[in-house]
Amino acid sequence: MKMLRNGLAALSALVLGVVPGMGGEPLVVAATHPLMAELAHEVGGDHVEVIDLMEAGADVHHWEPRPSDLRQIQRSDLILAAGKGLEIYLPRLRDSLAGTVRIADVGETIPSLRIGHDAVFVCCPHHAPGSIDPHWWQSIDNMKRAARIVADELAEDRPDAADEFRSRAADYVNRLDELKSWARIELAKVPRARRKLVTAHNAFAYFAHEFGYEVIAVAGLSREQSNAPQDLARTIETIRRTRVPAVFPEKGMSARQIESLAAETGVVIAPPLVADGTADAPLDSFEAMTRHNVETIVAALAN
Ligand SMILES: [Zn+2]
Ligand SMILES: [Zn+2]
Repeated sequence: MKMLRNGLAALSALVLGVVPGMGGEPLVVAATHPLMAELAHEVGGDHVEVIDLMEAGADVHHWEPRPSDLRQIQRSDLILAAGKGLEIYLPRLRDSLAGTVRIADVGETIPSLRIGHDAVFVCCPHHAPGSIDPHWWQSIDNMKRAARIVADELAEDRPDAADEFRSRAADYVNRLDELKSWARIELAKVPRARRKLVTAHNAFAYFAHEFGYEVIAVAGLSREQSNAPQDLARTIETIRRTRVPAVFPEKGMSARQIESLAAETGVVIAPPLVADGTADAPLDSFEAMTRHNVETIVAALAN
């Protein structure tokens, strides 16, 4: 009798339960990068519950899931990673999940650029000169590609909503087309000889490639390095040699170092750019990040 009752309980759970792929319960999507969380929201709409694992301001190059994040990951249906080698813990995570949660490497099929062999400062030991540059989100075209990739990934788990995902992705792509037209017009206001980006974080190769700018590698503009006098001396030499009009150091770089850089070279010290898509509000969306970066670049370099 007991066995029968248990059997019936199991059967009624089966009948009353939500059938996967038929709507109802939202698809739980965990994102290991804030811009992937944005794509999940934009493309998935009401069909997804998004778990944005990385808090604003976190360093994408050194972040790793903590035990509390792993619990969130285990209750999700799909993980969206920026990929292209950014999340160095991904192979280990894949092994530990042993196929229980699917991981989508969003950046995998997006065309790669390599970190310049002249790069003098790299984000972390895994991204050395010559290796694949993981900052693919610094290209508007790449974010358009990514929106379509995310639509396909969500459709795999929710085939009944595939058309909706594709149409939401198309809307997002249209918005990015407008953003790109605007960015192109703005960035063209900078005379060709001044289209040089000297940034604290070597994250703008995809951006520069898209808009015909040149990245000039320096050290000494970040919080950690600004204490190293030899880095600063090399940076001063590079700025003089390449006739760079402005630099974009990291927030928190020492005021004394900034003053000596400006005094030695006459270079304009511009506000920081958002490199990794992890800024606090209101710069916490792709569109806001890009607008901020474009406006900051044009204001510093145009004349
Ligand atoms: Zn890195
Ligand atoms: Zn970065």
